[in-house]
Amino acid sequence: MRAQMVLGNWKMHGSLVGNKTLLDGVLAGLAGVDSVHCGVCVPFPYLFQAQFILQGSQVIWGAQNVSQHEKGAFTGEVSVGMLNDLGCNIVLVGHSERRAIYGEDDATVAEKFVAAQKAGIKPILCVGETLEEREKNITADVVKRQLLAVVDKAGLDALKDCVVAYEPVWAIGTGKTATPQQAQEVHAFIRGLFAEKNAELAENLTILYGGSVKASNAVELFSMPDIDGGLIGGASLDINEFVSICKAAQPKAV
Ligand code: PEP
Repeated sequence: MRAQMVLGNWKMHGSLVGNKTLLDGVLAGLAGVDSVHCGVCVPFPYLFQAQFILQGSQVIWGAQNVSQHEKGAFTGEVSVGMLNDLGCNIVLVGHSERRAIYGEDDATVAEKFVAAQKAGIKPILCVGETLEEREKNITADVVKRQLLAVVDKAGLDALKDCVVAYEPVWAIGTGKTATPQQAQEVHAFIRGLFAEKNAELAENLTILYGGSVKASNAVELFSMPDIDGGLIGGASLDINEFVSICKAAQPKAV
């Protein structure tokens, strides 16, 4: 069976009081659900709170970004060692908002990926094309370039311990979801890219879809053969939505 996963990306949302309500609600809603790995990527100041509320539960937690540097004069940055101290299991690398707003290029994303893995934190590697790139018919080229930048730096075997999230930029936070067929096409392309080199690795690679996933479209998206769950932005801030989306992911035979 290939691991199925649903992760919430809270982006820059939250408050101590609101987070507690949300996490308590998610824990209650997911009690007894063990067929899917669920987790939340929270803003740095709330990692401690996530640890306090979630440790010992089946819900994992992590950050939305991390420095590629180990330590030093990098004001405002957070290292993998710091995330490790807090027991983070996962970290997003290369989210499109980091790439577009903060200028993170493929090489930087690859460095962050390597730093996270070295510290024992599973990188969730985000890739995806902009609307302009889709319209130019270069989706596959873009996704391939983003993935191979990491493979070139980390080696193919590094993909055994990561999760890939395909997130078409035009579908993030816009309410426009890729159709299940559009998403499946890119997921199959990603798996195929690695299957040529290592069939077993490719079969076992968890590939999430992200981009306006909601309770109302999750079942259809997650039922596609190469979609192994989702990375959820807006809808992860709503208890009922997030719990329903988590429950929509079912294990897939490989
Ligand atoms: C995201 O932030 O990764 C995301 C997919 O956001 P949304 O679900 O809001 O489109």
